[in-house]
Amino acid sequence: MVAHDATGGVSPPRGGRSLVGQAAPCGGELGDRRREPAVGDDRRTPRLEGGDEAVEVVADGIEDRPLLAVRGDLDVLAEGPTGVGERGWVTGGEAGGAQPVEPCIELAVGPAASAVVVLGRHRVVQLGQQPGLDRIEPLPGGGLRIGALACLNDVAADPAVMRDWPVLRMAIHKSASAQLRNLATIGANLLQRTRCAYFRSEEPAPCNRRVPGSGCAALDGHDDRHALFGWTEDCIATQPSDPAVALAALDAHVLTRSATGARRIAVTDFHLLPADAVDRDTVLAPGELIEAIELGDPAPRSAYVKVRERESYEYALASAAVTVRLRDDGRIENARIALGSVALRPWRLADAEREIVGLAPDDPAVTEAIEAALAQARPVAGSAYKLAIARGAARRALLTAAGVPL
Ligand SMILES: Cc1cc2nc3c(=O)[nH]c(=O)nc-3n(C[C@H](O)[C@H](O)[C@H](O)COP(=O)(O)OP(=O)(O)OC[C@H]3O[C@@H](n4cnc5c(N)ncnc54)[C@H](O)[C@@H]3O)c2cc1C
Ligand code: SF4
Repeated sequence: MVAHDATGGVSPPRGGRSLVGQAAPCGGELGDRRREPAVGDDRRTPRLEGGDEAVEVVADGIEDRPLLAVRGDLDVLAEGPTGVGERGWVTGGEAGGAQPVEPCIELAVGPAASAVVVLGRHRVVQLGQQPGLDRIEPLPGGGLRIGALACLNDVAADPAVMRDWPVLRMAIHKSASAQLRNLATIGANLLQRTRCAYFRSEEPAPCNRRVPGSGCAALDGHDDRHALFGWTEDCIATQPSDPAVALAALDAHVLTRSATGARRIAVTDFHLLPADAVDRDTVLAPGELIEAIELGDPAPRSAYVKVRERESYEYALASAAVTVRLRDDGRIENARIALGSVALRPWRLADAEREIVGLAPDDPAVTEAIEAALAQARPVAGSAYKLAIARGAARRALLTAAGVPL
């Protein structure tokens, strides 16, 4: 049986430990309060639960502890400020083969780290409000650099984003709830894990993503929220992030840093498909942090359409992000179309993007090109209804981006 909490999350699996560290909302007075907590302010004191005798909570004086790099499926579940059930993110290294993670630790901890705890011999780092990591700034050659710790509402309210990348603002405004967007960061949003109910179930269910080799309960179970593209019998789940879809249509990049250096990864390559690895969500290596998101050329003609069962506080059944550039005669010079919640990564309709160049945005041939691209989909038994939703969302987003009345 699948157990959800009131907000669609789940409780940590039994026997697991949870790391509870509360962060204040980004910016403003509350943000400042996080940097200088009042004595006894236990809202920012991490707490470990689960009865592990080796658990110890400390805020400083940890320099002599060994550094270990573990990311993802350790026996820790993080209960972040925005909800229960996100997997804990831990740097350190013995579990995955010792990793030299000093730069990572330095970046994550620094003097302003919000919390550092020790799990037995493992140092667990909670990202603090690092100077610069929440900054949004123009890039010298054009484009925009968004620090990974910028919270979603700050990104959406940034004047440059509003003016030049409206698709990102729209996708953020369709994400979660206003309260969550005040806390959730853009970097972490890309790292949120699938909403597949079996993956998040409190009761054990076969799930290769949770326990590799255990099977996939969704294959013969509830699969109506599941994939149209890129799945295998190992996993038919989808990625739920809305901003990721906008970033994919923007050809944005994820900038990362780890002990082995920095990387610049296309958002379209950031998430892994089940054929790549069923127990990993992204290409991030253990100990690798997202530092920033980089947007390229402005895309003032861009839009996001999300279809969901209720208009707020709900994940997408399917969504579409579109950017379009028009020629002087109003025909399409260039378009990028990304679908959301149809695969374990935002799914670009590359064939349709090519086919519609030179057409008027409201030409019926545009819809036909989108339909032809969707004909390549391979819905699972319960997800076929999402094809019509995806087609409608893509068409609507394209017309909105192009400024054509609906
Ligand atoms: C009830 C609910 C509804 C939601 N609805 C939507 C929705 O409709 N659309 C949508 O897009 N999202 C939705 N979300 C997701 C939400 O918007 C947040 O993005 C998500 O919960 C992550 O929150 P957080 O910033 O607190 O990250 P955390 O939970 O703190 O972090 C998530 C993971 O990423 C790791 N991490 C964080 N920052 C970095 C970094 N810079 N580098 C490496 N690792 C890092 C953390 O350690 C953790 O493992 C919803 C969430 C909830 C709880
Ligand atoms: S679809 Fe993926 S996440 Fe869901 S049960 Fe199957 S393996 Fe697990």
